[in-house]
Amino acid sequence: MAEHRITCPFCMEKGNFETEFHAEKKKPSSDKKLNFDTLRCGNCAGYVMVLWSASEFAGIRGLHDYHSLPWALKLSNYPEYLPDVVGRHWLQAQRSIQGENWDAAALMARSALQAVLRDHQAQGRSLK
Ligand SMILES: [Zn+2]
Repeated sequence: MAEHRITCPFCMEKGNFETEFHAEKKKPSSDKKLNFDTLRCGNCAGYVMVLWSASEFAGIRGLHDYHSLPWALKLSNYPEYLPDVVGRHWLQAQRSIQGENWDAAALMARSALQAVLRDHQAQGRSLK
């Protein structure tokens, strides 16, 4: 599993984990396997639960998708599936929401949406 991508929600250290518990579940009709890990942070000894599986799409082997609990209290990065220009605005929008800076959040959300539309070749007078 790509533990280097996971950030400890308690101390914000990234990728410093040991696996304390591992379980697997496999569907009889598929090669897909779900993995359930409990990771222990090497820095603060906090525990993180991670549900993950290897990717089955695009022929990319070894690429993992995962969900972890608890969530980090501070956002340190945007989701990896977002392009850089979209993710940068998305992250600023999320941080603005956390700080209750509503006008800034709306502007950053607008910028993220604009970047998505431009990425999909949207055109028009209102898209500047
Ligand atoms: Zn930690």
